[in-house]
Amino acid sequence: MASIPSADLSFTPLPAAVSAHRPLRIGLIANRLHQDAPDSALVQLLRHAQSCIARLQPEWIIVGRTLDAIILHDLVSVCSTHERFPYGRDGGLMKLVSRVVDSDPARSVDAVIYLIDPVDPSSVFPEAQALKRQCVIHRKPFLSTLASAREWLELEALARGDITDVTLDAGYNLGSEGIALIAHDALKGRMLALAEKHFDLLDQFAHRYATGTTGGLLNQLAQKIKGEEAGRDWVQPFLSGPMGGDAQIAELVLEKKVRRIVFLEDPHVARQHEADIQLLERASRTVADFALVMSEAEGADRWLGLMSRRLASQR
Ligand code: PGA
Repeated sequence: MASIPSADLSFTPLPAAVSAHRPLRIGLIANRLHQDAPDSALVQLLRHAQSCIARLQPEWIIVGRTLDAIILHDLVSVCSTHERFPYGRDGGLMKLVSRVVDSDPARSVDAVIYLIDPVDPSSVFPEAQALKRQCVIHRKPFLSTLASAREWLELEALARGDITDVTLDAGYNLGSEGIALIAHDALKGRMLALAEKHFDLLDQFAHRYATGTTGGLLNQLAQKIKGEEAGRDWVQPFLSGPMGGDAQIAELVLEKKVRRIVFLEDPHVARQHEADIQLLERASRTVADFALVMSEAEGADRWLGLMSRRLASQR
């Protein structure tokens, strides 16, 4: 039995994104597939999240063609406070990466919504990968699916008031929901701390899945909390990540058996199973109106905390 790493509880209370004394600043970009159609993900996002956005009053940084599409769809009033960034081919995405890492509050973005089409080649350009990686390093939400952007905006609006989007209620019927929990080695302590802190919430899910080692540790934690028998199969462990566990969980995502994935990534090491990690992320983007990924511990902590708050206010 693997020994349990000590739970790492060194969370800061709130990510800078939400404690700053200024409006949230959100970077926004969508791949072509998600821009043009009248029911594109971009259109759905701005329509459905309109009341959340009205409460948050964020500032937007919007990359060229995405802003063109918003104007074309007559939705610019939803994101009226915005700065136009250049088109992708002129470096718009590269500039966005620079704003993620910028420590100047007048310039930095707090979160990025990048509606990714997994078969669009530009979604795997270096700047697209750097955008995600730097969001993880700088602990800023990176929201790459319609579902993740909608849920995040709604929870952040909830943090400032009441539930604003009842059409999301179905996703909170946790008794019929699945969640996946995965952590790279350096972050396994953080995963255990997260799971312990949010145990009551996670316990409400119909199914919890994990990669092999993470799952073994989580079951040890559950046995500590619920007793040896009751906690034994708290999560269903698949193969270890490097042995294909990410791909097994991706299948559940594609089958819509897992909506939420907490994947605590270590951005500072070379990962021999990078392809598997990408595969799981791409699976979530393949069912983009359904699945969402939380990629770093502080953001996941806040997200899970706000989920609990939402469930309490639904009752
Ligand atoms: P593990 O896999 O839980 O088996 O360590 C996680 C990973 O490295 O992807």
